[in-house]
Amino acid sequence: MEDYIVSAMAAGEQIRAFACTTRNLVEHARSIHNTSPVMSAALGRMLTAAAMMGSMMKGEKDILTLQIKSEGPAGGITVTADSSANVKGYANVSEVIIPAKPNGKLDVSGAIGPGTLRVIKDLGLKEPYVGEVALQTGEIAEDLTYYFAVSEQVPSSVGLGVLMNRDNTVRQAGGFIIQLMPYASDEVIGILEENLKSLSSVTTMLDGGDTPESMLGKVLNGLDIEFTGKMGCAYKCNCNRERLERVMLSLGRKELDEMIAEGKPVEVGCSFCNTKYVFTPEELAQLEEAGGI
Ligand code: ZN
Repeated sequence: MEDYIVSAMAAGEQIRAFACTTRNLVEHARSIHNTSPVMSAALGRMLTAAAMMGSMMKGEKDILTLQIKSEGPAGGITVTADSSANVKGYANVSEVIIPAKPNGKLDVSGAIGPGTLRVIKDLGLKEPYVGEVALQTGEIAEDLTYYFAVSEQVPSSVGLGVLMNRDNTVRQAGGFIIQLMPYASDEVIGILEENLKSLSSVTTMLDGGDTPESMLGKVLNGLDIEFTGKMGCAYKCNCNRERLERVMLSLGRKELDEMIAEGKPVEVGCSFCNTKYVFTPEELAQLEEAGGI
């Protein structure tokens, strides 16, 4: 199945909802970062959430960043998305190995540990919107649910899941975000809560053959669902040599001089896609001059 996101309204616009399947993009992230299974799950959940939250933005140049900074072995995870649901991301530590939970599930919260979740929306205004909350569980879906409630005052339900194959490739990935509008009635909320209580996990649904559409059909059962859109989502990095030149310049004169003095080419990789860029000492010197440092 191709990666895509569907959006819907339900109960006469009292609920807005998004669901997606992201197996291909999460597998792509796993393969470029060579993540351990628990980190494939952690990064995959973040990328899945970012794809849906990116698709909620309107402007072509709008950029969403989700950033976890935490005290667990993963250290943190950064992902970004644009409004076309192109996503990219990385974990500070890709190869965290920790025991599974007693129920056999990957221990994402153990890898992440206590910390903070930041949501940055650059909507082309003077200042980006920044919301920050303390991590509630480190399982990511619950943390985003908390973020939506506290920072955006939108009661939401977030489900995210990544299921791994035995060979550590990604078998299923996807998620949903359900949001209540301020005028949602108690009756609608009651039906939604009952549906969520009896709902299987995202990966169980996807592995059982569900699509984003049918997942939303289950979550919003009895609530008169109306699909409003569908868009593809993908892992895409927009790095180029110019961007990396700016990164090199940001290191400052002293560090660049030291690199030049070493007399060897310097290889720098993009954090998001691992593309390697090589700078010779001559190129670094030119860069210093052109950059005026
Ligand atoms: Zn890149």
